[in-house]
Amino acid sequence: MKTKTWMILILIITAASSFTFSYLLSQGQVSAKTITVTETILVLKPETTIISDEQYERAIRELLQYVRDWVESSRGLSFKEDVEIIVLTRDWVVKHWGVGGLNITQVRIEEAVLKSLFIVPEDFNLTEFKVRVSGYMIAGAADHTIYVVKEFFDPSYRVESGSILAHELMHILQGEYFSLPRPSSTDEQNALSALIEGEAGLIGSQYLLEHGVKPRSPSPESILEPLEALWLFPYIYGEPFVRYVYERGGWSMVNALYDDPPRSTAQILHPEKHLEGWRPIIVDPPPHPGGEWRLILQDVIGEFFIRQVLRAYLDGLSANRSAEGWRGDVLQLYERGNSYMLRWKIVWEDEKEAAEFLEAFTRLLENIGAEKIDERAWAAGNRLVELQAEGRVTLITIISYARCPVCA
Ligand SMILES: [Zn+2]
Repeated sequence: MKTKTWMILILIITAASSFTFSYLLSQGQVSAKTITVTETILVLKPETTIISDEQYERAIRELLQYVRDWVESSRGLSFKEDVEIIVLTRDWVVKHWGVGGLNITQVRIEEAVLKSLFIVPEDFNLTEFKVRVSGYMIAGAADHTIYVVKEFFDPSYRVESGSILAHELMHILQGEYFSLPRPSSTDEQNALSALIEGEAGLIGSQYLLEHGVKPRSPSPESILEPLEALWLFPYIYGEPFVRYVYERGGWSMVNALYDDPPRSTAQILHPEKHLEGWRPIIVDPPPHPGGEWRLILQDVIGEFFIRQVLRAYLDGLSANRSAEGWRGDVLQLYERGNSYMLRWKIVWEDEKEAAEFLEAFTRLLENIGAEKIDERAWAAGNRLVELQAEGRVTLITIISYARCPVCA
């Protein structure tokens, strides 16, 4: 199945001196000018070109022409159609693609999963997070059109702006030459995004290098909150993955990735595994829990997500080690009235890996102050957690009640 690029907009969000990435900055975790973020969202095409003066338009078009030629010769692929450029304003983007682009039901389910797994606190508002980050888009590409946000995109900084255009032009070439399967899970979506963002990122970095500017390194995972790391995954790990392949076989080997793309974050994190032919397994979901529970989500969330669950309350090294050895998983979310039940079955390489994960998850429960109520059950605020293991399979069940079940 071919990806419908006309409906998919790829955003680049860069923290530059002209604006601040307030969410991260307010927590004092990163300095401005260190972050470039990419995200893929479904949006509608804008109906009109938004304002811009003649001189600005001319400078953009002239730069686009130059970068387009550079990308064609560097990547060895020619554009099949003309590339359009549309200038937008930040307000327009927030209104139409930030607020307007959100699927309320999907956000509610995603938020319930994040809270059930203790990644974000109970009072966290995911909608606010998503709307806020939409305001930091500086450029995007869909179909044969590049969108730039006037406030954040200055063509007089030719090398930096040229690198952003090179990145977006690469996305247009990807749409013209390659097709990807429609992702069937979060883990697969993250892996496919890492491939396309990684390739565009590599082209952007090569453009900078060839024009005398050292590319910025992405923010390391260690300084990011788990949710930020999840959101940034394609950018942090996509480029190293594609570079690993490129250094071994050039662009022809990168092209071949599209014939058998990575389907899990485990392959992105361990590119050598992908090249050796390692592939994740499909895990059968556990049976229905009985009663009135209604299934509202079934997903595969993968090694990187597991790492973030653990990293929220454990040190990075233990989190990385305990998440390794993942073979496949299935996560389900059920709903009953105002309560949720999350069931998460993970298959590991072997029994030792399963035990290591369970031990780490137990430490996480201790660190959040959960109370052990029997051999395998814990109470944590309004949640009941049950841990089970059999051979190389672990099963975690977390019921989130509207009210605390064991409190007075
Ligand atoms: Zn991108």
